[in-house]
Amino acid sequence: MMDLPYHVLNAVNTVLLNPKDFTPLHTPNFKGNELKYVSECISTGWVSSVGQFVDQFELDLAKFCGVERAVAVVNGTAALHISLLIAGVKPEDEVIIPSLTFVATANAVKYAGAHPHFVDVEESTFGIDANKLKKHLHATCELRGKECYNKKTGRRIACIVPMHTFGHPTNMDALMKVSEEFGLPIVEDAAESLGSYYKGVHTGGIGLVSAMSFNGNKIMTTGGGGAILTNSEKLADIAKHLTTTAKQPSKWEFKHDEIGFNYRMPNLNAALGVAQIESMPDFVNAKRDLANRYKNAFEGLEGVTFVEEPENSKSNYWLCTCKLDSEDSKQLENLLELLNSNNIMARPIWNPLHQLKIYEGEFRADLEVTKSLAKRVFNLPSSTFL
Ligand SMILES: *Cc1c(COP(=O)(O)O)cnc(C)c1O
Repeated sequence: MMDLPYHVLNAVNTVLLNPKDFTPLHTPNFKGNELKYVSECISTGWVSSVGQFVDQFELDLAKFCGVERAVAVVNGTAALHISLLIAGVKPEDEVIIPSLTFVATANAVKYAGAHPHFVDVEESTFGIDANKLKKHLHATCELRGKECYNKKTGRRIACIVPMHTFGHPTNMDALMKVSEEFGLPIVEDAAESLGSYYKGVHTGGIGLVSAMSFNGNKIMTTGGGGAILTNSEKLADIAKHLTTTAKQPSKWEFKHDEIGFNYRMPNLNAALGVAQIESMPDFVNAKRDLANRYKNAFEGLEGVTFVEEPENSKSNYWLCTCKLDSEDSKQLENLLELLNSNNIMARPIWNPLHQLKIYEGEFRADLEVTKSLAKRVFNLPSSTFL
């Protein structure tokens, strides 16, 4: 096993076009109409809170994702925040989220005044383990009327937030059953999974409402941006209202009927988005092709596995991912050291959130798989131009 890092380095080098050059983890791709639309946007003068590109982007996005409505906002974290609010999360509630996710998932729960309730993920999909969650809820929670309460903390559980890790869809059928049994709506954190499908349905279109991100490192970008997706016209209208300072339609009066948020995506960013989404089919194809090449390169290597899309799913392979057999954290460290010193930008998966000082006091289920994956998982360069 001593040679494992070198075997991985060789495998990656067979996939990369120019292994000698520095290869970043992920860079945006502006090969389409980006400059054209952004110039058009600037020449109209409408770069900020009004303009046709926002409406266009929302329509294009909803169509691409096969949902009724999309509401464009400033970033994915803001999209998550509003998604939680419209799903009914109230202060002092608990929200079930994986510990193995980007910190924004938990932060958004806090913005809503609620507490994250960390649960474990599956070894195969890296998404919430629905069967384990079901057992956990039976053991620690009780239904009072139609609402689910945590018997230990006394707090109401408001919803479940699955996250489609690195673009691989969570096992949603099993999760929907848990959602029904315990009366917990599903808010999807689909920030990483634009272009990914679970049993033919686009991720983010399965739960009650979902959040997308168009940050610079995601599969497509608006510079910074996000969106709320839903099949409910009513919820979409509420989301639009809340993200635009809750201003009532009026010719010139400033009437705001609740404390809203200034979360609307600027027109300039939406112009970039309209161009990027035109390229999405190409981006997904490029990433799936890259994933296939990594998969072949890693075939037969002992001690390390390239992570493939789950059964019945089509992944966007946002970040190509491998996992080691061994939990020896020294091995992962040596591997990252070797790859990065050879101009290959590789990164470990996030520190599980329950291990961060800011979240260590929050309620958690058994997190055995999460802890294990955190010592074994790393990402490889995944840009569309590769
Ligand atoms: C990127 C990301 C977000 C947040 O998106 P921003 O646009 O950066 O605010 C939320 N959740 C997950 C899982 C992400 O990867």
